[in-house]
This record gives sequence, structure tokens and C-alpha cells, in this order.
Amino acid sequence: MECDRCARPAVVDRPYAGDHLCDPHLAETVRDRFQRTLRRQLPRFRGRTVGVALSGGKDSAVALALTHAYFARRPGVEVVALTVDEGIRGYRPKTIRSAKALTRSLRVRHVIVRAERELSTTTDAAALRLLGTPPCSYCGVWRRQLLNRAARDAGADALVLGFNLDDLAQTVLMNVARGDVARIGRMAPHSRRQDGLVPRVAPLAEVPEREVFLYARGAGLPFDHAECPYAGRASRNVFRETVWRLEEALPGTRQSLLRSREAILDLLDASGDAFGAPQRCEECGEPSTGVRCRACEYRRVLAAPVMGVAVS
Ligand code: SF4
Ligand SMILES: [Zn+2]
Ligand SMILES: [Zn+2]
Repeated sequence: MECDRCARPAVVDRPYAGDHLCDPHLAETVRDRFQRTLRRQLPRFRGRTVGVALSGGKDSAVALALTHAYFARRPGVEVVALTVDEGIRGYRPKTIRSAKALTRSLRVRHVIVRAERELSTTTDAAALRLLGTPPCSYCGVWRRQLLNRAARDAGADALVLGFNLDDLAQTVLMNVARGDVARIGRMAPHSRRQDGLVPRVAPLAEVPEREVFLYARGAGLPFDHAECPYAGRASRNVFRETVWRLEEALPGTRQSLLRSREAILDLLDASGDAFGAPQRCEECGEPSTGVRCRACEYRRVLAAPVMGVAVS
């Protein structure tokens, strides 16, 4: 199959766009969508520091490389890579090695925060104790909090996340399926400032996962393919498969799910208070939708003698 824009062989078929693209033309559209989305999510950006969450996987590697290229034209802005080590043996050390290789090649400052030091626990340690709780529940909550804290400590005015189109479509569907509309308002990319939270943006929001992978490979970025040993227990897997099937049957479904999110945000904005305005956690002082944040709730469950209790 030939590229629809030149005579080179196509590397990707994009039913939602009705075309086939070669490597260089795919790379061009990925860069264009990234820049357009970042401009839209960070209009009139006057900050000095941009944090990029870097796990060492393909999505965050592309997010860092493209953020670095985007701000290279603005010498007053520093890009800082932020990595959380949740403490997952056999997995995280490998991805951190890839993350370090990338930050070294881009000459970007790299901050690594470790759950063991910051929270006095690790995902591995919690998984051994909370047998009835899927590890992603607490691991994700802890990682989000540590990332926010690291971004704040680095003086970041915005935090770039590597979420791609598939990730975001799955998250919208998950929150709708759970009846948690307020969480759709709080998910990244943020359309408004939330007290205590460094605004999170997702400039790969319009790029499907497969295209992010092809871009990372074509650009020769160091990234790790390893899959977290706990990923198989995540409820997200059901939504990942559902979104794939929907997209196969109805190309453009992922974009429609994101448009639904924007329509919901408009309604939430109009109603004024449906976001579940963040307060401060009475235990750690971090932003929270309840008296105590979910990160502290999980640490309490971990410290309690009864095991396997899920936090709602
Ligand atoms: S897959 Fe789940 S347990 Fe593994 S790093 Fe991600 S959130 Fe943590
Ligand atoms: Zn081409
Ligand atoms: Zn707390």
C-alpha cells in the first residue's frame, strides 16, 4: 500500500481519517497534532518551567521529545522530566533506564521520586498485603500525587502527560460506566485551574496509541516495551478492548468519546459546582475531594490489621 501523500510505502492505515501514511508523513501529522493540541491546552503560556511525566514507555518518551522540541524555540522555558518509581521489581528499573537514556540524549533535567522514600511503602509491598484490591487502584493514586508534588517542587507551571487518544477515550468510557461524571471534569487535560494541582495537559490527546508507537520507533527514541506485572488485573483492560472493538466497527469512536467529554465539561462549567471542588487532605495537605485524600486512605488501609479492603 502506498502513502496517500507520496510514493513511499505506507506504515499505517487510518480508517478514521480515510488515509494511509508513510513514516515521514505520519511523523509530520503526529508533530502537527501535538503542537496544535498543546497550543490549545496551554493558550498564552507565560510560565518558566514545564514538567513532563516520564515513565520510560513510548507515550511519555514521545511527549518528552516533542515538548522539548516545542519549547526549544523559547529559551526562557525549562523542560524537566519527572519519573515516579513506585517500587515494582523487574519492571520499573528497566523503564527508568530507558527514561535516563532519553533525558541524557535530550540534555533535560531528570527528577526521580521514589514511593519508598516519600510514602514509606511501595506498590510491591502493598500488593502483598492488600490481596483483594487491584494494585492499579492505589498505585495510580500514589503516582498521581507524587507526580503533582514533584511538579510543584520543580516549580512547574504545567505538567505534560503522555496520554494518547486511546487512553483518554478509555478513561471517558470508564467514568461514564461508573456513573462518575465529576471525575470526567477532573481528568486531564485540565480546562481550568484546580487549587493545589499543577495543571495537567495531554498534547497527544489526538494521536492514537499505534501512531505514538510508530512515531517513537521511527524517531529512534529510547523506550521500554515492558508491561507492568500488575497490569493484567486492571479494570481498564475491559475498556481498552471495548474501545478497540468500537473503533473497529465505527471508525472515529475515540474522537467522539473525547468530544463527549468536552460537551460534559461545558455542562459542568455551566452548572458551576459539579467538579467536586478540591479541599486539602487533613492528613497530608494535598488536594482532595474528601476530608482525607485517597492516597492517605490507602496508606491507612495498608497499616490496618484487616487486609484486602477496597477504598471506594
Ligand atoms: S499498571 Fe497499575 S500497578 Fe502497574 S505501574 Fe501502572 S498503575 Fe501501577
Ligand atoms: Zn508519504
Ligand atoms: Zn492525604
